[in-house]
Amino acid sequence: MAFLDHVLHPPSYGWQDDRGELQRPSVTTILREFFNRLNIFADRKNWLAFVSWFKVFCLLPFFLLFVFQFFSWWMLLAAFVYGMVIMGTHGTVWHHRYCTHGAYRFSNGFWRFVTRQLTLNIIPEEIYVISHYVHHAKSDQPGDPYNAEGGFWYCFLADVNHQPIARDLSENDYKRVTRLMAHTGVKGNTYRQYQYWGSYARPLATLTTWLLNWSFWYGIFYLAGGYALACSLFAAAGVWAVGVRTFNYDGHGHGKDKQREGIDYNRADRSINQLWPGLVAGEWHNNHHLYPKSARSGFKTYQLDMAWLYIRLLHCVGAVSYYRDDKQNFVTKYLKR
Ligand SMILES: [Zn+2]
Ligand SMILES: [Zn+2]
Repeated sequence: MAFLDHVLHPPSYGWQDDRGELQRPSVTTILREFFNRLNIFADRKNWLAFVSWFKVFCLLPFFLLFVFQFFSWWMLLAAFVYGMVIMGTHGTVWHHRYCTHGAYRFSNGFWRFVTRQLTLNIIPEEIYVISHYVHHAKSDQPGDPYNAEGGFWYCFLADVNHQPIARDLSENDYKRVTRLMAHTGVKGNTYRQYQYWGSYARPLATLTTWLLNWSFWYGIFYLAGGYALACSLFAAAGVWAVGVRTFNYDGHGHGKDKQREGIDYNRADRSINQLWPGLVAGEWHNNHHLYPKSARSGFKTYQLDMAWLYIRLLHCVGAVSYYRDDKQNFVTKYLKR
């Protein structure tokens, strides 16, 4: 069996039925799976998915403080810019284009560190990266961890139900996982530690990084604007953390053919270019499926791509030593015909 066929921990309902069609579990089944796979008392190997949602849970008090204690239009504006534009663009720059696709390279570990820590630490790299390889290999097919045809909840809870790595990888397959993660700078478990924890990520390092990252940013936000700003921006990060989990369902047209002539040029899957994720985070998803390794996804004039602007800026100051840009290939192939 090919590596990408078994690198993810399959849900108990399986990826496909006997006829090879996508298994479409009911919402109840999906929710039951979700809570089973978050239960760290039943299985310690659930720890990483648990931590990922526990962080979202920890952001809830900040959200309540923002709404009931600190709300003002200025704070709302700050929260909007942070939660939509900054968190969104950072997800594209870091998790998507760098960690998964290697669309650009840092000149040194310092700039990689700075970029990784540039926003509140929420989504574990391992959960995003490995499953995203599978997503590209099996887009809209059974086995795609956030197959939009599975429905909203199938995608929304995918980081727990479908995205964690398998727990029974051979030593060789686990080595392949470590190779896919090596350039991210996230230090991983040895094979023996992986057999114990079920993850590439190491629990102590994961928790330390998280706490230091949040403490640092809370301090900075507090110095810049007191409790009000700190709570508002943490609240915004929480809204982003929930909202980003809806992206994969939306980005593949809710599992329906929503591609438009003159906008979506890639017809090999159901990905679509959407104005909002494009403008705030550079996620021109149909373009991205055409050229996944490109550090730029906004190819047309109106397709603002702030993630690309960040990468270009780092390149200008010498922090990025290499990037790939497929804009010219896109223009030649699709626009000059
Ligand atoms: Zn996609
Ligand atoms: Zn991608």
